[in-house]
Amino acid sequence: MGVSYRSIHQKAIVIDTHNDILSLCLEKKLYFDSDLKGKSHSDLGRWREGGLNAQLFVVWCDEINKSPFEYAVKQFDLFDLIAYRNPDKLSKVADSKSLLKVVNEGKIAAILAVEGGHMIENDLEKLNYFYNRGARYMTLTWNNSTDWASSSFDESSNPDLHQKGLSEFGRQVIKRMNQLGMMVDVSHAGEQTFWDVIDTSTKPIFASHSNVFSICPVHRNLKDEQIKAIAGQGGIISVNFYSAFLDKTFMKKKDEFIADHKAEFEELLKKGMIDYMAEDLLFSYYPTETEKLSAPFSLLLEHIEYLVNLVGIDHVGIGSDFDGINSAPAELYDVTAYPLITKALIEKGFSEKDAIKILGSNFLRVLRANEN
Ligand SMILES: [Zn+2]
Repeated sequence: MGVSYRSIHQKAIVIDTHNDILSLCLEKKLYFDSDLKGKSHSDLGRWREGGLNAQLFVVWCDEINKSPFEYAVKQFDLFDLIAYRNPDKLSKVADSKSLLKVVNEGKIAAILAVEGGHMIENDLEKLNYFYNRGARYMTLTWNNSTDWASSSFDESSNPDLHQKGLSEFGRQVIKRMNQLGMMVDVSHAGEQTFWDVIDTSTKPIFASHSNVFSICPVHRNLKDEQIKAIAGQGGIISVNFYSAFLDKTFMKKKDEFIADHKAEFEELLKKGMIDYMAEDLLFSYYPTETEKLSAPFSLLLEHIEYLVNLVGIDHVGIGSDFDGINSAPAELYDVTAYPLITKALIEKGFSEKDAIKILGSNFLRVLRANEN
């Protein structure tokens, strides 16, 4: 009998590279140092229960927010408040050395990040500001393009897009990020933007929460050539738990669910709610129905295995997108379920060393490579 998966999970430095709890907390006036069971995927108590050692917290807002920078600052402030009152459980860190130190002290290490380049409001000084507040990666776009980088959503759905890829200013953003030691996150970026980044970045890039296009062909996932390019530069792809990015049958099932509740959905839209928020709300009204939409857990492992087979063990990580998604895979209902991933990796025949790489040490390597 080999070493149990539980002891491997405990030994590993488990790092989740993408979590959206901050914007959820700000929006709903919640605090993740209280018990949020039933209200969120994550909170401080449940991270510890799930054996998580380090969390990347993204600061996020959508494109209709009138003052994205200001809204981002509020999320940094909210994070600092919670860290300040939980010094025995959680510490903000900004480099790999401090991360390891905090983890050794038995606390959760937290790194901040920015999801959506529109929050810098076309101003490199604001990028510097985010870095100084502890942000160690920025996702260049969210679903919306910025003035300087096109998103995968726009590139795939808007053929008349005037600016494709990175503009000259976009290249300056990448260079500044490289100088500062802020990782470039290509999740959400359009293909042209992606290739322009590959061309511009002098440090390993990463995808904080994206999956394999060949298994689930949606615009948010990465094609084989992109995966190879990330690995070629020494970067990683962290797998996303969202059922829609794991399971190619999800969209059809989701459309059927919405059609079943068409009147209610349209009522929400009529009230001025934007479509993805109306969808989230509708999902929350019918938990038993929406649970059936969940991707099978085995699919997450399929994406991981595909990546490993394509580019090797050194280029895969975990980027759940918890609290930014309305459908997690079966069994992986919240952050207490991370040990199931370790269990599945071992059952699939991954060695202890390889499981530990996927669970966090690959990310640590990329973080280090971006540091000055
Ligand atoms: Zn995202």
